[in-house]
Amino acid sequence: MTTEPTTGRSVLVTGGNRGIGLAIARAFEANGDKVAVTYRSGEVPAGLLGVKADVTDSASIDEAFKEVEAAHGPVEVLVANAGVTKDTLLLRMSEDDFTSVIDTNLTGAFRVIKRASKGMLRLKRGRVVLISSVVGLYGSPGQINYAASKSGLVGIARSLTRELGSRGITANVVAPGFINTEMTAVLPEETQKGYLASIPANRFAEPEEVANVVRWVASDEAAYISGAVIPVDGGLGMGH
Ligand code: NDP
Repeated sequence: MTTEPTTGRSVLVTGGNRGIGLAIARAFEANGDKVAVTYRSGEVPAGLLGVKADVTDSASIDEAFKEVEAAHGPVEVLVANAGVTKDTLLLRMSEDDFTSVIDTNLTGAFRVIKRASKGMLRLKRGRVVLISSVVGLYGSPGQINYAASKSGLVGIARSLTRELGSRGITANVVAPGFINTEMTAVLPEETQKGYLASIPANRFAEPEEVANVVRWVASDEAAYISGAVIPVDGGLGMGH
């Protein structure tokens, strides 16, 4: 067993101002951690440290980390959650539709992990949790860009585990299925019905159900889990 701190840690959640990211931030807050969230515009949720950052912009990420480090100390738990969709079928998908989703979801995760790793290496401990999707390994028509970005996160987590695993740093992927947020609310009713029919649990989930798994995989109890893909999808992607 390790003897890592179990509370009071410096946690940063990208895109933690709403949706799944906010639920994750609240779960760490309830655990007694010092929680910061990135946001691009709008309000910072009460009680959290909001740092402005766009994950497509390395300079803004660096500024955000400096703010978090000054207020809470080096980031020990990084949750790469920020993500976007730009769904359309292959023949209609422009190169920009593809590369802009990769830039946010995949390269954005790379940028924040790279920046966080410096502090984690110095601390000789760290937890990286990447928010992927069932779609990353299951596939989905109209989401070639999104699926590519989300499966790429698995390669990042596993390579990171091999690179930094001996330094007390773990990297895991949490792969949610269909969660009730703004991202899924905009899907046509027919699409939602189609998903529901193929989910063994026969329901969609709330963001808190993802957040609890993220909090746990970042805890001392999960210190020996790294490079794993943990589904939170009611059985939708079973075996993938
Ligand atoms: P939302 O659309 O509700 O929230 C997306 C978050 O990402 C927002 O906080 C948004 O910030 C942030 N974000 C987007 N682009 C950037 C950027 N360039 N820089 C910084 N922040 C950015 O989505 P969800 O809460 O539903 O999704 C969160 C994560 O979970 C995503 O990675 C998504 O792919 C994944 N996921 C969601 C599922 C679902 O069913 N909802 C299923 C599987 C995975 P802002 O408010 O500034 O726009």
